[in-house]
Amino acid sequence: MAREKERKCSFCGRTDSEVSLLITGLNGYICNECAEQAYEIAKEALGKHMEQAGPNDLDWEKLPKPKDIKAFLDQYVIGQDSAKRHLAVAVYNHYKRLGQKKQDNDVEIEKSNIIMVGSTGTGKTLLAHSIARLLNVPFTIVDATVFTEAGYVGEDIESILTRLLQVCDYDPKRAEQGIVFIDEIDKIARKSDNPSITRDVSGEGVQQGLLKLLEGSDVLVPPNGGRKHPDQKMIKVNTKNILFICGGAFDGIERKIAQRLNTHVVGFGAVENTSKIDKENLMQYIVPQDLKSFGLIPEIIGRLPVLTSLQPLDRTALRQILTEPKNSIVKQYIKLLEMDGIELIFEEEVFDFIVDKALEYKLGARGLRSIVESIMLDAMFEIPSSKQKEFRVTLQYARDQLAKTNLDKLQNS
Ligand code: ADP
Repeated sequence: MAREKERKCSFCGRTDSEVSLLITGLNGYICNECAEQAYEIAKEALGKHMEQAGPNDLDWEKLPKPKDIKAFLDQYVIGQDSAKRHLAVAVYNHYKRLGQKKQDNDVEIEKSNIIMVGSTGTGKTLLAHSIARLLNVPFTIVDATVFTEAGYVGEDIESILTRLLQVCDYDPKRAEQGIVFIDEIDKIARKSDNPSITRDVSGEGVQQGLLKLLEGSDVLVPPNGGRKHPDQKMIKVNTKNILFICGGAFDGIERKIAQRLNTHVVGFGAVENTSKIDKENLMQYIVPQDLKSFGLIPEIIGRLPVLTSLQPLDRTALRQILTEPKNSIVKQYIKLLEMDGIELIFEEEVFDFIVDKALEYKLGARGLRSIVESIMLDAMFEIPSSKQKEFRVTLQYARDQLAKTNLDKLQNS
């Protein structure tokens, strides 16, 4: 017993009674506090080591190739092949660029920032979130809407990089290799394509700020985001190697596309071309000029050389979204009840019914979740406390449950 009392941490010398926990090793002991400190030291040392190793030492064999990246995205996102291919290639090239061993006479690989255009709820953010799961460079998603007031009420554009710094523990070297997804880029468009008399400060000012980031320059980033503050210590980040992926709904851009396509009708061979135009999905014909007509400044467009569009989701796509993705809403509900030991079964017609309602009320893919939630709420409340081992959602049940919900309300949410 006396010996037991003498147990001391081999690092700080404190005894058993002075610490909360003493871990026994082969030839000594370590207390919980020293263990924590050791962990911090190891983390820092290894972090430095990784930084020194840098992306030049990325294991090329292990890096996912563009086809692998697309296959990975396919698990989570239905359709949108064109956007997936562009993303896959851009991300792969981003790795290559980071891994390029710089030699003076070498070809310098320039980055190709991307802009994805597609109506709301077609999967832009989902694509960004999904690709983040697979990346091994820092990645963050920021929303451009907070910058609308160009530094008056909103945040300074530099704070786009704050989030990136946060995900890599404020290590600027790592942040400089990262990828930033800027959502809702269309919200900083100026109100018209005509920059003359009445300058639209809110849009253009922010775009000029963003341009600096896209071009690649040293930027002083406020570590806590928000507005620049004289007392705040800034962190310098060079954006030359940061890959920017932008996404936006660009509401109404179809009209600009239609106008442009019509004006081209006059040209040679135009009749043949216009007859082939798919009027239901004009987005697929988007070209950089349309972004300019919408109100992005040409310099920004020039810095986003890869332009890709997302297709509207039709009935088949909605039906697939309901059940097929790895974490589809239906699979999530099945999992939730499985945790209570209950098997959840949806009858096939229920899925068609849900898709019909989403289409009828123009709720899009986002609405699918709201509809399933409305159908399932009572069941989710009742059955975990019941002795049931199985719950079957029939068409009638789905109809009755949904009848209690005001779908118009969902439409406005
Ligand atoms: P956006 O950013 O284009 O407005 P989101 O990516 O946020 O749209 O999509 C909203 C929701 O709709 C997603 O969380 C997802 O559940 C569903 N969704 C949209 N498009 C798809 C798709 N192509 N594949 C699978 N799910 C999708």
